[in-house]
Amino acid sequence: MQPHLLAEIDSYHAHVYFDGAAERETAAWIRERVAERFSVQLGRWHDALVGPHSRPMYQIAFAVDVFPQIVPWLMINRQGLSVLVHPNTLSPHDDHLVHALWLGAALAINGAMLPRRIETHDSLIDPIRPNTEPTLKA
Ligand code: ZN
Repeated sequence: MQPHLLAEIDSYHAHVYFDGAAERETAAWIRERVAERFSVQLGRWHDALVGPHSRPMYQIAFAVDVFPQIVPWLMINRQGLSVLVHPNTLSPHDDHLVHALWLGAALAINGAMLPRRIETHDSLIDPIRPNTEPTLKA
């Protein structure tokens, strides 16, 4: 078996989950701090369940070179929230369920909703379009 190539990883997502008003406030605090510090694409808030996710959350999409800054930052600033970090390759199912790492408690992911294989990087994976203007040092 040949190992996967790093080049298969197009980008990453971090999903920040919250449950209830207090955790939502923590999630908002994290979101603001991330926006001030990292060039990333912040996704919409999802207070209702969406996709394969089993809790409300928002997504942080980021380029491969941002990983060594933002992931350690989330490790030490997540304040108890669960964060799913997954690569984006052509295998969405495995990206979420096999190749992912969790900060904090792992939550359920509905793998049945995720394709095993997609044909091109364009069909599910949008290129990262940063929508933050970081001014602070992480
Ligand atoms: Zn994702």
